[in-house]
Amino acid sequence: FHAKAKRLGHACYRSEMTDRLVEYRSTQERLSGALERGEFFIVYQPKVDLQTGVIRDVEALLRWRYNGEVIPPYRFISLLEQSREIIPVSNWIATQACRQIAEWELQGYKVGVSINVSAVQFKDDEFCDMIAAAINEVGIDPRSLECEITEGLLIDNVSEAVDKLVQIKEMGVRISIDDFGTGYSSLAYLRQFPIDTLKIDRAFIKDIPHADDGTIASSIIVLSKALGLNVIAEGVETDEQIEFLKHHDCDEYQGYYMSPPVSPEEISVLLERHNSGAPRESVDDEVFV
Ligand code: C2E
Ligand code: MG
Ligand code: MG
Ligand code: MG
Repeated sequence: FHAKAKRLGHACYRSEMTDRLVEYRSTQERLSGALERGEFFIVYQPKVDLQTGVIRDVEALLRWRYNGEVIPPYRFISLLEQSREIIPVSNWIATQACRQIAEWELQGYKVGVSINVSAVQFKDDEFCDMIAAAINEVGIDPRSLECEITEGLLIDNVSEAVDKLVQIKEMGVRISIDDFGTGYSSLAYLRQFPIDTLKIDRAFIKDIPHADDGTIASSIIVLSKALGLNVIAEGVETDEQIEFLKHHDCDEYQGYYMSPPVSPEEISVLLERHNSGAPRESVDDEVFV
């Protein structure tokens, strides 16, 4: 009977669905308790000043080590959101990020860390308190911390979102809009919310300098400047992209061109290489006068 069923397209489709459901359920099971078992870890990716090459900030990105395999966020973040387990996990990330800021400061590096805020976490009543608790527990300068928010988070309940963002902004925490240009919200929100930075989504960077992508990226840069916002390009991989972004006066970039997300130890090495030494411009000026 099984062999016969398999020959029918319909049955095959159903069995594929079942496979996926089984995989989904087992991932969910393995995921519960992953935080307590210490299976999560954070990698960091530099954000680089396009003019000076200095690493200003790094973005914290979550990884899950399961059975010797490193599992990327697209395979488990939505599951964590469904179970609301994303809240304790995000609180852990915020505290880890603050500890890492303090650790780099001890090593002599002033570098900020951004964390990605999930919709479930943002809508939780405790969101602002948890951010404040992480900052106070470690005792860092709140301006070293940044929250990356996606447009989708802002459109649901505008007044509540404004309230929360104003609250964390008043603590000194910086706010950026992640994946900018991919959401469906109106540009009007850029004035309503206390935003510091726009992060241009990789979709608008990847084909630069070809096609129309350059036009969208350069328009976002112009928009940012007009609104007095900082602007950063995501997913930068090539010399052409760097040249284009410099030419259009983009402030910072992030991408494999400098480094993929790496361990805190590897970030220290990059900081040593890119952020230490005398301020380059003034030294060069003197040499060439
Ligand atoms: P995102 O916040 O937009 O992060 C950027 C993603 O692009 C990261 O993928 C990063 O590894 C990748 N990336 C960076 N530079 C390049 C590049 O030059 N080329 C290419 N092809 N990719 C690049 P990752 O780490 O897999 O994260 C994917 C998404 O998962 C993130 O997108 C974010 O939305 C979510 N995520 C990651 N960590 C967390 C977290 O701690 N909390 C929450 N709520 N979401 C997270
Ligand atoms: Mg992000
Ligand atoms: Mg992004
Ligand atoms: Mg993105």
